[in-house]
Amino acid sequence: MNTIESCRRCLYTTAHPLGLTLDEEGICSGCRIHEEKDCLDWQYRWNQLEKFVQPYRSLDGSNYDCIVPVSGANDSHYIVHLVKNRLKLNPLLVTYNKYFNTPLGIRNLANLRIKFNCDILIQNVNPVSVKKITRATLRKFGSMYWHCLAGQTVFPVQTAVRYGVPLIIWGAHQGLEQVGMFSHEHEVQMTRRYRKDHDLMGCEADDLLSIFDTLTEEDIWQYRYPDDADLNKTGVVGLYLGNYVRWDPKAQHEQMIHDYGYRSARFGRTFDSYDFVDCYNYMGLHDLIKLYKHGYSKVTDHACREIRHGRLTRKQALAQVRQHEQAPLRYLDLFCKWLGVTPRGLQFMLDQHRNPRYWTETTPGSWTFHGWSHGEQEHAALPKETDIDFAATDSLECSQDQAYVVIGKGFP
Ligand SMILES: [Zn+2]
Repeated sequence: MNTIESCRRCLYTTAHPLGLTLDEEGICSGCRIHEEKDCLDWQYRWNQLEKFVQPYRSLDGSNYDCIVPVSGANDSHYIVHLVKNRLKLNPLLVTYNKYFNTPLGIRNLANLRIKFNCDILIQNVNPVSVKKITRATLRKFGSMYWHCLAGQTVFPVQTAVRYGVPLIIWGAHQGLEQVGMFSHEHEVQMTRRYRKDHDLMGCEADDLLSIFDTLTEEDIWQYRYPDDADLNKTGVVGLYLGNYVRWDPKAQHEQMIHDYGYRSARFGRTFDSYDFVDCYNYMGLHDLIKLYKHGYSKVTDHACREIRHGRLTRKQALAQVRQHEQAPLRYLDLFCKWLGVTPRGLQFMLDQHRNPRYWTETTPGSWTFHGWSHGEQEHAALPKETDIDFAATDSLECSQDQAYVVIGKGFP
């Protein structure tokens, strides 16, 4: 087994699942690519983007100019702000119903289409198939999120083909932001290959059929990527705004809270109150599974990002990780009820996916953790609450006065 080495600047290690290298100074590829954010000519890059999108404008207004995948969280408000207000494009928003929606996420999604006055398509795959897929992928790969990742990444592409709108506009590229897989200047675009290898853990919809005899064609066809002939006929292209704008999620969210009423919520398992507020599970069960399988969780991603932006020292970031990464799950009962499993049955299934590199069963049912944050010698004092400044405007439950929830553009 190769030894795991940590970056001297951030908290990532060479065991990062997206692949990461350290240079002779012990600084990781993700930190090095991040340095580009402070030396690239962003005005020039924005001008390049404007030139790139120009031919995609629907001149007679008879169709949308582009497709923008959105959710009730993450960077959606900011992406739509750039597309609609700065690029002056007319987007069709598309969203995949992940089923684990929080009331706050539903509210944010409604707010998004009200404030930016956009049309939206929502993909609802039937709950029977979604549950069958979730049961299967959870057991086999320890993934309860496969259907969300597959749906979110394929529905925009299918819509591009069906509507004849070739341009898809995404936010930041995860491989670039986290591990510096590419330079901003490579201007990488969306590919079928990246989706399969990284978003879907190497497993396409059709692969599920050969692994699980419980799943049928009717369950998986909605997750199938369009074939090359259809993609080429439409000329589908997916670009990432992070290649053209200096991407800083914290600053962007704060601008969206202030200007457009985006709302945020506090989590137990991370200090970032802006991302993932639309989902009960991403920062819950999904995050715990990440810790089981990979030895680190989302709070480490957030901490590394904040180190790189100069808002946390490495020591403060490590303290945040240690404070949050083993926090208990708050909404597990909702998931068990939805899937029809007992908490005990679920735990048994999850324990099969604990990586022995990071977990040791000391006595039956009792585990000790020796993941990334425990390889660090540094004694990390906890920063004061005010040292880290992420605002929470709401809770995930988004308490509000009772009123009808209006479908479409009107959330009360
Ligand atoms: Zn680093």
